[in-house]
Amino acid sequence: MKSYNSKLNKKNVLSVVAVLVFAVAVIGITIGFATSANQSQNADAPVLDVTKPVETFSLPSEKYTVLKEASVDKLVYMSSLNMWKTHNGIDLGLEENAQVKSVFSGKVKKVEQSTLEGVVVTVELSNGMTAIYKSLSSASVKEGDKIENGAVVGIVGTMLSESDLGTHLHLELKKDGKYVDPAEFINVVSDNK
Ligand SMILES: [Zn+2]
Repeated sequence: MKSYNSKLNKKNVLSVVAVLVFAVAVIGITIGFATSANQSQNADAPVLDVTKPVETFSLPSEKYTVLKEASVDKLVYMSSLNMWKTHNGIDLGLEENAQVKSVFSGKVKKVEQSTLEGVVVTVELSNGMTAIYKSLSSASVKEGDKIENGAVVGIVGTMLSESDLGTHLHLELKKDGKYVDPAEFINVVSDNK
């Protein structure tokens, strides 16, 4: 009887040890994950230069209505083109002849006239990203210009490939060469008219 009990106790002790080892392993893995997640977040965080004022994205116009959100990963139906494609920018309805302003400081890389997209201004932003302003009727800057946050880039117009939206700005943002949703960087609300 005694030996039976001691056997049972040994078994119990072994199970308790096994449970403890398992629990420690789970806690260890969880802490490991949390630490690595924190580390990768820290690695992505921009280095803050306290000697300069922090520049943030500004709106391309004070008055606007969001006509169509960006869809950089999923296909959406583009009625003017009668086809499904990604919508690589955000469409903001602006008043006729409204000024379109730079959302960040930077350098004008390209000013071009496109049959489908109207006047297009591409600006290399000083944070390494690129802003592309499409559906303009005219440009107020030229290639090589250094522009401040809020500087007038051009006058809003229309573009053939999105003619169903009327007068509007089609704004694209690229980070590391890839389209990103401008709404993630620019504080747009659905209707600000
Ligand atoms: Zn658009």
